[in-house]
Amino acid sequence: MVKPKAEPKAAWLAAESPAQKRRRAGAVRRRLERAYPGAKCALNFSTPLEMLIATVLSAQSTDAMVNKVTAGLFRKYRRPEDYLASPPGELERDIHSTGFFNQKARSIRGLCRKIVEDYGGRVPDTMEGLLSLPGVARKTANIVLGNAFGKVEGIAVDTHVHRLASRLGLSAEDDPNKVERDLTGLFPRSRWFQLTYLLIEHGRAICKAPRPLCEECLVGDLCPSSRAPTRRVPFA
Ligand code: SF4
Repeated sequence: MVKPKAEPKAAWLAAESPAQKRRRAGAVRRRLERAYPGAKCALNFSTPLEMLIATVLSAQSTDAMVNKVTAGLFRKYRRPEDYLASPPGELERDIHSTGFFNQKARSIRGLCRKIVEDYGGRVPDTMEGLLSLPGVARKTANIVLGNAFGKVEGIAVDTHVHRLASRLGLSAEDDPNKVERDLTGLFPRSRWFQLTYLLIEHGRAICKAPRPLCEECLVGDLCPSSRAPTRRVPFA
């Protein structure tokens, strides 16, 4: 039997109306919620400052490595002033294993200085305030707001969220801020916070960066990028 030819991604997306895309996005979300009911931020923290520092350290590193490093780091540095008072090179050594330690130490000192000078030593609890900290973009601000303050202003778009949004045909944008805009338009606000962690879990487990495991994917029939050799049925 000849297998039906799979529809190319572009044709699928061109034929899909905005309402169909929203319904498809909703179906993807519901399946991911069932598959990953415990999806949440894997970084250990107990204060907004710790959440912020852990998020900075997580760039180009694994959550497990960051947690290993912060277990000692957060005992040693409790306030922004502690980071600022560390002798040259010491903070770099303390965060060395997370990679890019010079750049990260510079970022941490820069945002701690701003927190001390402009916010009385407390991490700001608004999007505007967080974005005023040097080196903090919307991804980090969304993560800190959602996890440390219980405030949801948007969807944190990290590398997994960006890749899955693209493969699932939910955003064709390169700029993470535009990807966030597309995603917030497709999902109800009440789901924004959780969505980041659902997509991260699925990205780590199945929709991996170098080679997605489409044959094992629970949303394969809803994905215009599926490489599974089964017939894909456009969602309507
Ligand atoms: S079908 Fe493949 S490309 Fe699409 S979400 Fe699943 S693993 Fe990723």
